[in-house]
Amino acid sequence: MPSTRNVACMLCNSTNPRKIKTLLIPKQNLCKCRNDGLVYLNQRLGEKEQKEVYEKDILKNEAYYRSTFNKDTENFGRILDIVRKFGKPESVIDIGSSTGTFLWCCAQRNIKKLFGVEINKASREYSKKRFGFRILSSIPKKGKFDLVNLSDVIEHLQNPLESLKDIRKLMHKNSLIAISTPNFDSIITKLTQVKPEEHLYYFTKKTLRKTLQKAGFEAIYLKSTSRNHSVENFLLSSTVKNRMFRYAVKAILFLRLDDITEPLIRKTKKDLLAIAKLE
Ligand SMILES: [Zn+2]
Repeated sequence: MPSTRNVACMLCNSTNPRKIKTLLIPKQNLCKCRNDGLVYLNQRLGEKEQKEVYEKDILKNEAYYRSTFNKDTENFGRILDIVRKFGKPESVIDIGSSTGTFLWCCAQRNIKKLFGVEINKASREYSKKRFGFRILSSIPKKGKFDLVNLSDVIEHLQNPLESLKDIRKLMHKNSLIAISTPNFDSIITKLTQVKPEEHLYYFTKKTLRKTLQKAGFEAIYLKSTSRNHSVENFLLSSTVKNRMFRYAVKAILFLRLDDITEPLIRKTKKDLLAIAKLE
């Protein structure tokens, strides 16, 4: 049996959270801080064991990444369009760059200085080979970047607050940071994105803002939003084990109703996007 440890709230150090038990999230060890409402997994594997989960996670789903490429480029393009309202980045570092799609979108927008950080070796090599990007295995100690991006990353981190404080060092006074993460105020997120083996934190607008503030950032944009997903990929990335749900999705695909259901998924605003600068 791998050992588990109890983790205090990263925002207030309290070790007395309330267990979350609802019909939607049964038996998942999720808890909510009584002081600030932060939702997180307080009993979790050791850091070393957790890291191994990601390193082992070889590119088993290359087919998944290929199939999501088009939707991802639309979603990342939208993030970059919003970023452009606040600044014109000439250098970008994408932390958790996965297979390199975000950096590819930056390259399409003529941004020349592109860097990625990716813990998973297979993903790193895939994006080097496919796009020729410079992908590092850990956050660099030196260097300043106009834009730092974290898409679907902070919910995986052991302590997002401490990581964000480290990330500050990569930024200058005009740099921007873009963060996207599932929105725990959305019922769709509660249904499909509770993944205790990967997702250690579950942010709402309120707790994301507080985390940014504590790390020394000022959110200049913070909205619930929705990314484009094909219904099929939505099923693949979700955690719902419920058979009825899976049959329903298959029926939607079989009956070709996804033109109707995709906009409905988007309406649920199941994601958060924050753009912030140094305080
Ligand atoms: Zn707390």
